[in-house]
Amino acid sequence: MSSETIFDKIINREIPAEIVYEDELSLAFKDIQPQAPLHVLIIPKRQIATINDVVEDDRELVGHLFLVARNIAAEHGFAEDGYRVVMNCNAHGGQSVYHIHLHLLAGQTMGWPPYANTEPKQL
Ligand code: 5GP
Repeated sequence: MSSETIFDKIINREIPAEIVYEDELSLAFKDIQPQAPLHVLIIPKRQIATINDVVEDDRELVGHLFLVARNIAAEHGFAEDGYRVVMNCNAHGGQSVYHIHLHLLAGQTMGWPPYANTEPKQL
């Protein structure tokens, strides 16, 4: 269990967001600092802080987030060209909000590898 984040405020309509989809399990809204022509965050309504906190019982919920991402990508016409769906975990993953969320990024070709200006470290 962890403390409330900015995403709880969005779920509770305490702060505004451009919501693109909602159901009983999830909410999807535009990222405030878009990194692609379409950048949507898909979150569970129930807070789970990080991927490390996902348990077996969350299987369906986490799978649901992917289906929502797929549907939003398709609705916006990106199914054929493709898109990226990513979930960051903790500091090295680049996570800044501790309420799990899928980033749906679409509308331009993505880069790989994901880190900027560094060589991959050898384990
Ligand atoms: P993370 O860095 O945790 O993977 O992603 C958090 C994302 O939440 C960032 O892309 C950031 O721009 C977005 N974000 C942070 N605060 C807000 C907010 O108040 N509203 C919206 N719509 N997005 C936010």
